[in-house]
Amino acid sequence: MPKSVAVFDIDEVLADVRTPLNLFLKEKHGIVMQRNDWRVFKSELNPKTRRVAPDIMKFIHSEDFFAGLKPFPGVVAGLRRVATENRIFIATARLPKFKGVTEHWLAKLNTPFEDIFCGEIKYGVIVRVRADKFVDDMLNEHQGLLPYRRQNPNFKQIINTRPWNDFYNDPRFIRAHDWVRKSGQKTILERIIQKRGCRETNH
Ligand SMILES: [Mg+2]
Repeated sequence: MPKSVAVFDIDEVLADVRTPLNLFLKEKHGIVMQRNDWRVFKSELNPKTRRVAPDIMKFIHSEDFFAGLKPFPGVVAGLRRVATENRIFIATARLPKFKGVTEHWLAKLNTPFEDIFCGEIKYGVIVRVRADKFVDDMLNEHQGLLPYRRQNPNFKQIINTRPWNDFYNDPRFIRAHDWVRKSGQKTILERIIQKRGCRETNH
């Protein structure tokens, strides 16, 4: 049977962006972000960060920032497990000029993937690789894929729970929470891996 095709976003799905951002906001601007302060992700629209949004953008849009991000716990083992049943592609909204640092970051994790799409419209990527599964934390990315979903009813859309999406309840999008269990919600890995009717073997 051919492998399924799984497409992953990076930021806040594989890579922890909020921890260094919280630190930056606290140390440089004295802004302490609580979980609820993150209900609006875009800094220029967030009432608490709007004032310093240009400085945040400057901080984020650098190779050093992307190179220094930490993967969430469980990402490395999780992606390796996913790769046993899926071809893995990466689709990120990062600007194309950050493709090199992004590639390097993923190579360092030593996790399997076939290609990275940087700064491309995700709809185009999904169509091109004929994706079966898609994991992203941004609601608008998922909503933008509904036309593809209508033509591919088995297309699985997994939304990684974050303060900027958890108020939204749409059963079309499957909820997951990171890569290791920390709440009642299933992990991304549990959502991706096919359920089998029989016990898995070691070979
Ligand atoms: Mg993201």
